Amino acid sequence: MDLLKRINEITETSPDKLCFIHRDETMTYGELNGYSNDLADKLKHSNKPLIVYGHMSKWMIVGMIAGLKSGLGYVPIDTSIPMDRVEKIIEKVQPEFILGAAPITFDGIETIQPETLAMSDIKFDGIKEDDVAYTIFTSGSTGMPKGVSILMASLNEFTEWMNGLYINQEENYWLNQAPLSFDLSVMAVYPSLVTGSALVMIDKEMIKKPAMIYETLNKYPISAWVSTPSFMEMGLLLPNFDESHYPNLKHFYFCGEVLKHKTAQSLFNKFSNSAIYNTYGPTEATVAVTGIQLTKEIIETYNPLPVGYARNNVTLSLTDESELVIAGKAVSIGYVKDEEKTKAQFYTENNVRHYKTGDKASIQDGLVFINGRIDYQIKLNGYRMELEEIEHTITELEGVAQAVVTPIEKQGKVQFLIASVVLNDQTVDEAAIKAALQTKLPEYMIPRKINITDMIPMTPNGKIDRKQLKEVLS
Ligand code: AMP
Repeated sequence: MDLLKRINEITETSPDKLCFIHRDETMTYGELNGYSNDLADKLKHSNKPLIVYGHMSKWMIVGMIAGLKSGLGYVPIDTSIPMDRVEKIIEKVQPEFILGAAPITFDGIETIQPETLAMSDIKFDGIKEDDVAYTIFTSGSTGMPKGVSILMASLNEFTEWMNGLYINQEENYWLNQAPLSFDLSVMAVYPSLVTGSALVMIDKEMIKKPAMIYETLNKYPISAWVSTPSFMEMGLLLPNFDESHYPNLKHFYFCGEVLKHKTAQSLFNKFSNSAIYNTYGPTEATVAVTGIQLTKEIIETYNPLPVGYARNNVTLSLTDESELVIAGKAVSIGYVKDEEKTKAQFYTENNVRHYKTGDKASIQDGLVFINGRIDYQIKLNGYRMELEEIEHTITELEGVAQAVVTPIEKQGKVQFLIASVVLNDQTVDEAAIKAALQTKLPEYMIPRKINITDMIPMTPNGKIDRKQLKEVLS
């Protein structure tokens, strides 16, 4: 698969076909091609990746494709990321250009305003297989986000796999719920574009107002649904959400967190003639490396559900501690400018890249099951985060002596976070801590509750007693 070539072919045969829909904003394949050509041309003297900043705007997609056409790659940053964190990313990437799909300015960096782009016919050779296609930043335990760089070869390979899991319908619309700075969105964006489909974007305001999602579903005959399982739990509550009302909805792809048996079962009951896939993978291995179609038989046989079999060219193994190791072209070349963290998680053996996932797993006849983490990384509503990063950020605040963050779980799934905080300045309170965190962490990483306390419980050997904290707070 050469995804740029494939998108070009679609553009040539169907330039007026829609490739993007978000509320009233639409874009055709012809426009995507024309604008991304112009943007790639503007970047031709740069040798740094393009930052694409915004939310669900069509310009984000233009920026991403221009990043690929120019061979420079791109770094997507969603508007939900606070400026403090954006600064840290900019510091790492040292970009020359930002595509401002939302307002943003940085000293010494040129922000390209989308309104200045024109439709252009300039052709580009495009990115090479061993160039970095994109870098996505994820939570890092020390308070510095980690930039995961993914090669074009990995992106092409992943897109090809997804392409094989999709059957073209008469009308092809892919629903995407994930912000573009979260790699789950890659599962919708490129598979949608290489199948000549239209991407239908759900933004963060719509997620809060299910009536707007309902409206979108009734307006466009969605054929593929890509989301976290958490988002589907919401979808299942929508009125008339079943195959008799949505006959074109033939594909569901889940990734990013545990898909609960109950969620899969309810969805299957409503859409028993659709293909429902559970997939698994970290950002570090290009979105997803395993997958399985959840048939009646699979759902009846397994609880908890498996995450599937390794996809082509991916090799999976377990360490003595049952940690899952991923090997193959899918694996990232490492974290941007962070040799230490790269060395801790990645290694190369016989010329093949390997990534130690931190996920505990078991494999039965090639079928993979994920059984939790070996560290303090968690998932909350599909968002990945390191508890240590949140703790580090709270501890850095004025007046705070110590902070421990406890995930409160129900049926093995994190529901919300509580921070236990010891102060060294009693004038600081919960509201002040929350307000200070707003400027430093994305909304989804801010603990719901801040518990001011005199002491954090310790184990006999002097470590924080997270188990006891969890019992007390749950
Ligand atoms: P991210 O890099 O945000 O995609 O997060 C990757 C992590 O999410 C993995 O290392 C797993 O811990 C978790 N994860 C992803 N997909 C699944 C799944 N299908 N079931 C269970 N955990 C998952």
